Amino acid sequence: MTTPAETPTAQVRLPLRPGLEGLEPYGAPQLDVPVLLNVNENPYPPSEAVVADIADAVARAAHGLNRYPDRDFHELRAELAEYLRVESGVSLAASQIWAANGSNEVMLHLLQAFGGPGRKVLSFAPTYSMYPEYARDTLTEWVAGRRAEDFTLDLNHAREQIAEHRPAVILLASPNNPTGTALPLEAVEAICEAAATAGPKADDGAPTAAVVVVDEAYGEFRREGVSSALTVLDRHPHLAVSRTMSKAFGMAGLRLGYLAATSTLVDHLRVVRLPYHLSAVTQAAALAALSHRDELMSQVASLRAERDELVEWLRGHGLRVADSDANFVLFGLFPDRHEVWNGLLERGVLIREVGPEGWLRVSVGTPQETAAFRAALEEVLGW
Ligand SMILES: *Cc1c(COP(=O)(O)O)cnc(C)c1O
Repeated sequence: MTTPAETPTAQVRLPLRPGLEGLEPYGAPQLDVPVLLNVNENPYPPSEAVVADIADAVARAAHGLNRYPDRDFHELRAELAEYLRVESGVSLAASQIWAANGSNEVMLHLLQAFGGPGRKVLSFAPTYSMYPEYARDTLTEWVAGRRAEDFTLDLNHAREQIAEHRPAVILLASPNNPTGTALPLEAVEAICEAAATAGPKADDGAPTAAVVVVDEAYGEFRREGVSSALTVLDRHPHLAVSRTMSKAFGMAGLRLGYLAATSTLVDHLRVVRLPYHLSAVTQAAALAALSHRDELMSQVASLRAERDELVEWLRGHGLRVADSDANFVLFGLFPDRHEVWNGLLERGVLIREVGPEGWLRVSVGTPQETAAFRAALEEVLGW
């Protein structure tokens, strides 16, 4: 097959939105390397039994693909609520759950509903590098406060930023990416209190609440004694807690993220979503995967233990390592982190060059993959 000739772009000038000129699409390098520890995936593929069930469910759904799917995916929302009940001990109605193609799309829905021109979204850096992109794509102004030296949230600074900017949305990743830092419940509640009348002024001049989003993409990896923000959801009607099947659940390829909030907040998100955004295939596969939750989640405990060992090992070699409640570890400090990253890559281990200058992030893999990372790092650093 020959490639059709494209119309030369020089003939016209496309009306690209101001601010988008010269930008590259976001994404970590997808390289073909033996040991992939760069995007915090669960290293364990689904078992044959899970694969067979997903395939069956998709085949059943395929018979109805001439029809549009359930726009409101009731069954999936009910099953996600049931999953959260078992995982966090919090009972929620299906109407309090929202889902989309990855929590990235859930976040976009949040900013489409609550952000927009003349409005601000506030977060605290260093944090997830996609957040400014949601802001840009919804024409919402991005405001980044800062985290403390140890990557925790400085509550006084946070309160000041909220009062000064009157954001429509506050994004808090917990555990935070790329640092691994979880937010204590008291901090979540303090932010919710500060946000309760600190949103943009409504048309009639009355204060609104800023929507507080706690992004718990890595929530299942939290250490003993760290609580999910789901447990205070019933106290704060402007709180939303987002989760994903991409990380602990081991289903990054499925593209299914979700959130829990009041059904009123969820109803606002329903207004901005594209109709039928969750395909029948996605819904069927997600339901099948959820029915195997025990098996899919069975690796979480060993990944956590592996993470704690990795933290100790890195510290034992004199490196600085951020406390982690996630399935990755931020470590440093290197005068030339790119050289270290590249040395690992040359030895077949791909990690992520992300976070404040001098730090690197490595995902927790299988014991074999982690061993390969350690061996490569020993060589690179000449230990
Ligand atoms: C990985 C990640 C997500 C999940 O994204 P999906 O779109 O659900 O795959 C969300 N938030 C943070 C902070 C992440 O690191």
